[in-house]
Amino acid sequence: MRVLITGAAGFLGSHLCDRFLAEGHDVVGMDNLITGSMKNIEHLFGNDHFKFVKHNVYNYIYLEGEVDAVLHFASPASPNDYLEHPIPTMKVGSIGTMNTLGLARAKEATYMIASTSEVYGDPQINPQPESYWGHVNPIGPRGVYDEAKRFSEAMTMAYHRYHGVDTRILRIFNTYGPRMRLHDGRVVPNFIYQALTGQPLTVYGDGQQTRSFQFYSDLVEGIYRLLLSGENDPVNIGNPSEITILQFAEAVLEVTGSKSEIIHIEPKDDRITDDPKVRRPNITRAKEVLGWEPQVDLHDGLRQTVEYFKDKV
Ligand code: UDP
Repeated sequence: MRVLITGAAGFLGSHLCDRFLAEGHDVVGMDNLITGSMKNIEHLFGNDHFKFVKHNVYNYIYLEGEVDAVLHFASPASPNDYLEHPIPTMKVGSIGTMNTLGLARAKEATYMIASTSEVYGDPQINPQPESYWGHVNPIGPRGVYDEAKRFSEAMTMAYHRYHGVDTRILRIFNTYGPRMRLHDGRVVPNFIYQALTGQPLTVYGDGQQTRSFQFYSDLVEGIYRLLLSGENDPVNIGNPSEITILQFAEAVLEVTGSKSEIIHIEPKDDRITDDPKVRRPNITRAKEVLGWEPQVDLHDGLRQTVEYFKDKV
């Protein structure tokens, strides 16, 4: 296959480039480098099967030659990033989705949109199955990301229904691992950085809010299987083992052996406005349709992530 991956210089995009190249495919990686980093893909330069194009996907995309699959992964993805870049976040998820869908249609390529558990908002049911419509505040600070992704899903289904494009909707739950940015503001790099530098771990609020963390390699496997499946309905890919943020802080202290204390703070900015109180995927569909379930437990994944961050602090 010849595959276009947008957001190729990001955390997930770069791991996807590695996977598709390892499977013997040709990869065109596209990124505007707002939040991505060339460091994540510099090891691919010199590989004849890889080509990098610096481009903003909310401008028209011109790509010569055949394309078999388009994976639209470009977007700021941490709450800090989309608070800082609200308009690019909305554009990449709306105009960028339209442009990548248009390209997929023109090339008769399979299309995958990287959607998110944020489409469920602050969910009123837990765990969340794909059939849940969500509970999103459209005008809150997270709305730029949540609504752009919801629009992306609607647009993807419209191209599927109206133009017959073979589409995939991937709903990604919290994912972590090497190549996350140390200062992207998310809880995983924040706590690891704080633990490695002896600073207090900053739990927002009482820390009773929950998340379910999956290691990147499990996600990449799920993505690969989903692309090759014929599944047009949304599929949750995440690790169903749910923990509180306070327990997560304790896990980071255990894995790093850090003596940092855990403190509770109430950020005064928009960071925790509409912060989902619970989040956990129901992965029945992924199990049934893809034969997929996560393999890496939190402590193993954290150990590998901490090793990566050790060189960066
Ligand atoms: N969080 C925290 N301390 C931090 C960063 C985040 O307690 O230094 C909390 C945040 O309030 C949220 C959870 O950790 O409840 C996960 O936040 P993250 O930014 O990683 O991603 P989200 O799942 O909210 O998109």
